[in-house]
Amino acid sequence: MTIAARTWLDKIEPYRPGKKSSVSAGSLASNESPIGASPAVARAVLLAVANVHRYPDPLCADLRRELAKQHGVDPDQILIGNGSDELIYLLAWAYLAGGGRVVCADPAYRIDEISTYVVNAQMIKVPLVNWAHDLDKMAEVDADIAYVVNPHNPTGTTRSLTDIKRFVAACKSKLVVVDEAYIDFADDPQQTTAMGLARAGKVAVLRTFSKIYGLAGLRVGYLVADASIIATLQKIRAPFSVGSLSQAGALAAALDVGHRDTVRSHTLRLRAEVEALLRRAGFDPVPSQANFVLVQVPDESAFVARLAAADISVRPGSALGLPGKVRISVPSASGLQLLEKALFGSETPIHTSELHRTP
Ligand SMILES: *Cc1c(COP(=O)(O)O)cnc(C)c1O
Repeated sequence: MTIAARTWLDKIEPYRPGKKSSVSAGSLASNESPIGASPAVARAVLLAVANVHRYPDPLCADLRRELAKQHGVDPDQILIGNGSDELIYLLAWAYLAGGGRVVCADPAYRIDEISTYVVNAQMIKVPLVNWAHDLDKMAEVDADIAYVVNPHNPTGTTRSLTDIKRFVAACKSKLVVVDEAYIDFADDPQQTTAMGLARAGKVAVLRTFSKIYGLAGLRVGYLVADASIIATLQKIRAPFSVGSLSQAGALAAALDVGHRDTVRSHTLRLRAEVEALLRRAGFDPVPSQANFVLVQVPDESAFVARLAAADISVRPGSALGLPGKVRISVPSASGLQLLEKALFGSETPIHTSELHRTP
């Protein structure tokens, strides 16, 4: 080979996506919606198929207008992306390339880490305290971007809006990006979201259609930020990154508030059941505000293999920077039955002899 990749890319550990189970209800590795998308999405996507020979609207005007209305911001404060992952890369190109600095939690969301290293920027990781962001320590770091994932992935913990406000006021970072992929699953989303701060320069909020709306396969996310940040990112992005079917589907999903409420109440109910099931099996799950539960297990690969034998895929902690743990997405009712069978159904319960406490 005559060309060599940039040397700084050597730092990047490849992303290890969650595995699918052969049984749909058993796919609990990627925090996807166990209920699926609103039926209105399929209808909207089918209608949009008639125009697939046309380029999509680069700015997703209809979707942008609806989201601006829902969040009480100007449309020019919103950028729609090919999943929020695209927007994280755009932030890295615009604000970190060639020597910028990021501060984030350890473990961080993998895409925050990969995008930082792609542009040869530096990442300062601050260990979690009680599985949550150590905002006091993060505030002391002089960085360009501070990433706060709230609720956090992979732990499911949240920081209160009061804590976030205090962090924004005190932190040395120039921009605070609050990734709210899981905000709809928090006990009180309205009192937790930093959306109200996104109007004021220093805070940007990331949202996604991949989780509560069940559109992970359509790839739509958005950033709410100061209009000058949006204008910069708009200038550097690939203009047609969000396809027309995705735009139509996301708009239909955004308008179906009833479906979103159904997914939220299902998730909160089943999350409590998963936590109770794990406790009954002798585990000590981290109390979650997201659509997944993190739990310490005696032997990560044995546990993953045992569930795999029962047609359940979960995310091994070692793929998420937390070896010795697993992350289990909140399932459907039948997924919960599979899980119960895997934990209790056989002659030797998976876990009887001793309690494995999460420190
Ligand atoms: C799932 C997830 C997202 C969503 O990413 P998309 O690219 O929109 O699918 C964003 N941030 C975090 C922390 C996530 O876990």
